[in-house]
Amino acid sequence: MSDVRNVIIIGSGPAGYTAALYTARASLNPLVFEGSVTAGGALMNTTEVENFPGFRDGIIGPDLMDNMRAQAERFGAELIPDDVVAVDLSGDIKTVTDSAGTVHRAKAVIVATGSQHRKLNLPNEDQLSGRGVSWCATCDGFFFREHDIAVIGGGDTAMEEATFLSRFAKSVKIVHRRDSLRASKAMQDRAFADPKISFVWDSEVAEIHGDGKLSGLTLRNTKTGETSELPVTGLFIAIGHDPRTELFKGVLDLDAEGYLTVQAPSTRTSIPGVFAAGDVVDHTYRQAITAAGTGCSAALDAERYLASLG
Ligand code: FAD
Repeated sequence: MSDVRNVIIIGSGPAGYTAALYTARASLNPLVFEGSVTAGGALMNTTEVENFPGFRDGIIGPDLMDNMRAQAERFGAELIPDDVVAVDLSGDIKTVTDSAGTVHRAKAVIVATGSQHRKLNLPNEDQLSGRGVSWCATCDGFFFREHDIAVIGGGDTAMEEATFLSRFAKSVKIVHRRDSLRASKAMQDRAFADPKISFVWDSEVAEIHGDGKLSGLTLRNTKTGETSELPVTGLFIAIGHDPRTELFKGVLDLDAEGYLTVQAPSTRTSIPGVFAAGDVVDHTYRQAITAAGTGCSAALDAERYLASLG
């Protein structure tokens, strides 16, 4: 069975590349499927990353990912810019099929497919990402000192983002399409008590304005259809994330929100020899450093699993 790899890694964000680095340095010759569209993961869509340790002056997101990629390659990781379209993880030898239909075999698989933030799907949204439009207050809040900010959403994440942003912002407006919140009572109370936070009820974003930089929003009242202008220089979209677990439904255990479950603190999934790391597991922290951290754990777990096979 000379074509059987030690380990295949699916995903190329901080979790996948870190798992690749560690397994490559352990002489396990990992094969990494990077994805056909977004090799490098979520940070390919951002500008300055100021909170990844080791970069005192910050680093541009795509540069950080190029460095991670090159570091993994330096130790022999084999990288393929293609999607995995099917998996069979049930036996001792796992199979992974690429978009050309080629089947790749391995004794262990690390899943690091990340999650996708939900978008408003409006013109300008992608162009202004990192230029006023953001999906992560922890990541970007610091850039918005004394800005007027809108937060879109009505759940716990939106309340948490708004409360966090009020430390930096001049004002925070929570725009919600209904007249009541989905968030827990404690989170609502905290937002209601914050003097910098106010609410725009029954409203959705109709247009995002800005030429190179966000300058404002057009809001539409969901009951009357009336529109109004909201001049803001920050827009935080907090309407949820979708973990990329389509391939694993009915194969690996998922939680109620569709994230892969692992036997924490390990990265072991419900199938021996299959490990999961990064945002495909994590709906709490969702940071590059935590994804890289669990990518390292998955590599070490896979290494021990392979050693146990003798
Ligand atoms: P991802 O980075 O999402 O990577 C997953 C990869 O898997 C993707 O490349 C995808 O193409 C690939 N993939 C998925 N399915 C398949 C498949 N079937 N076959 C092959 N490949 C597949 N965090 C910070 O710490 N600091 C920041 O400043 C910061 N800024 C951010 C800015 C933006 C705009 C966004 C969206 C996120 C930001 N984050 C930041 C969060 C951070 O990017 C994520 O927490 C981190 O990238 C998660 O890493 P991951 O490896 O789990 O997944």
